[in-house]
Amino acid sequence: MKTNLRILTLAVALCASLALPAIAQDKHEHKVTPKGGRLLDKTEPHAEFVIEKDRTVTINFYNHDMKPVAVTTQSVTVQADAKDGKAKLEFEKKGDALVSKTKLPEGDGYNIVVQFRQTADGKPMNIRFKLDMNTCGECKHAEYACSCAH
Ligand SMILES: [Zn+2]
Repeated sequence: MKTNLRILTLAVALCASLALPAIAQDKHEHKVTPKGGRLLDKTEPHAEFVIEKDRTVTINFYNHDMKPVAVTTQSVTVQADAKDGKAKLEFEKKGDALVSKTKLPEGDGYNIVVQFRQTADGKPMNIRFKLDMNTCGECKHAEYACSCAH
């Protein structure tokens, strides 16, 4: 009787340990940004690149807990390598964010270079990615801002 109970206890423990990882599994490994934009690598505070419906660009800033913080000394320019020619977007402060004065060129699939400066005389950092406005089937973000691990 005592042995049976021990086997039963062991069996229950085994089941519990097998069931746990399945529940804890989470597909989204990347940080999901609050406004659905692209988180720019190695920026401090975290900068989020968002393409608005009118194709202007907004850069939002977040601390390590992804709480919004106001832009201070940071500045950004965006180079768009569109098929019909290059365009350079300048930004101005609007509230807590940086907002582009002009719009991204028409089209899709061209390269974008974000030049990020921490301070006015700081060393510029270039962040490159491809513009892809298609919606990702998994995370429902635009592909340029996809938060899935693929
Ligand atoms: Zn995705």
